Amino acid sequence: MNKVLFTPFHAKIPKHSVLFKKQGLKASAYHAGLSATERHQAFNQFVNDDIDIMVATIAFGMGIDKSNIRFVVHMSIPKTMEAYYQEMGRAGRDGLPSEVLLLYSTGDLGLLGRFIADIEDETYRSAAYHKLSLIKKYAFSEGCRHQALSHYFDDEMLACKTQCDNCLNPDVERSDISEQAKMFLSTVYRTEQRFGQGHIVDVLLGSQNQKVLNSEHQKLSVYGVGSGISRAEWKVIGDRLLEIDALTIGEFKGLKLTNLAMQIMKSEQAVDIRTSNLQTQSKVLKPKKIAKQEYEVDAEIFEKLRALRAEIAQEEGMPAYIIFDNKTLTEMAHFLPDNEASLLQINGVGKIKIEKYGKRFLTLLATLRTEDFQEPVQNLVQEASVTKVEQSNKIHPTYQTTLNLIEQDLPIAEIAQQRALALPTILGHINKLVAEGMLEDAKRQQLFDTVVIDEKVKNWISQGIEQLGSVDEAHHQLSIFKQLNQNQ
Ligand SMILES: [Zn+2]
Repeated sequence: MNKVLFTPFHAKIPKHSVLFKKQGLKASAYHAGLSATERHQAFNQFVNDDIDIMVATIAFGMGIDKSNIRFVVHMSIPKTMEAYYQEMGRAGRDGLPSEVLLLYSTGDLGLLGRFIADIEDETYRSAAYHKLSLIKKYAFSEGCRHQALSHYFDDEMLACKTQCDNCLNPDVERSDISEQAKMFLSTVYRTEQRFGQGHIVDVLLGSQNQKVLNSEHQKLSVYGVGSGISRAEWKVIGDRLLEIDALTIGEFKGLKLTNLAMQIMKSEQAVDIRTSNLQTQSKVLKPKKIAKQEYEVDAEIFEKLRALRAEIAQEEGMPAYIIFDNKTLTEMAHFLPDNEASLLQINGVGKIKIEKYGKRFLTLLATLRTEDFQEPVQNLVQEASVTKVEQSNKIHPTYQTTLNLIEQDLPIAEIAQQRALALPTILGHINKLVAEGMLEDAKRQQLFDTVVIDEKVKNWISQGIEQLGSVDEAHHQLSIFKQLNQNQ
């Protein structure tokens, strides 16, 4: 049985092929770094079925008539859907069932994005970005892969139900995002379906960037309603709405509403998403900032802060009040915050501004405190009302359920069984609980120690890490291992 593994980087090919050989598999490598003789030899080995696995760049196998390739793996996301379709088409030319595996990561996408950014011709560059966004949409999609592929090539078919990962995956936890979807779609509607995803998210988050202010979108009722959700999460929600065709991309990349969008907005249709795709971050309740209070400030200190603001405004070509308004500067001059956390307590200072200007203001503020400076007491009020978004943004109940079982001192395997979820899902929950500070790291270690790992898998992982140098790549290798074993 022949398998081809495509990797985009020459440098990685020999490493993968060595790993397969160490694992007792008949593998060879084919890449531009080999001499013509070596390439010829590898090619013949493959054609004559002397080897089972060929690790190669995508150029390999073009034009060869090898009908019994059973398994094609992409170890990174292809550049376009067309390329992917063509490359996977090398499997199963004899008409017998064959498999394809697409391994992708956000890192791959970032890398490809950087390659595209270097393209000089603007039309070509923007076309390349568009193509990449389409394959990305495919990779992250939740529907039937066969259906998505045929849809892409303007053909329609029913979901396969039994042949692709999405149709077969029995272990999918879903979250209802109907409320967030409504906010997103309403924002598209209120901004007259003329803007792209980035701008919609800016409005939802209550951004004060120039484009928002120029369009006067800070006056809309939807402005800032989504500030309880992270930018990354809004992006995922937007992508999901595109995937289910509640939104389409129109002229100048403006998002357009479809009939489905109307139904969602009228609560006639619900929207859900794979929980794992939605990186829910629990929002910590922040003490409320004090509003409308007059502060006495030293005029000299205020002038120094104002000078820095003017300097930044000049550099960025923006009006000074966009950086920080006078009220914010006054408060700063009064409290003279000396760290990020206390700077964040100042009205008008948010996370984004801290990222952009925090360092420079803190450097200046540090010089403004005199020896006899007395820390003014902030009279903070705990925020009483939490908006609906924040509530829905709390950690997904599934993690809590897992935590409850952990607290009953059950071993991981048993938790997985009780919850009818796969072991890796439970491991993911445990990592999430630790990241959210809901579980001690020591407890995680204790739990992980109870997991029994097959010797073959252990061996594959340790050799994978040794050979490839990173856990991430060994992780890719593990998916291949799983698939190869399934096929035997
Ligand atoms: Zn399917």
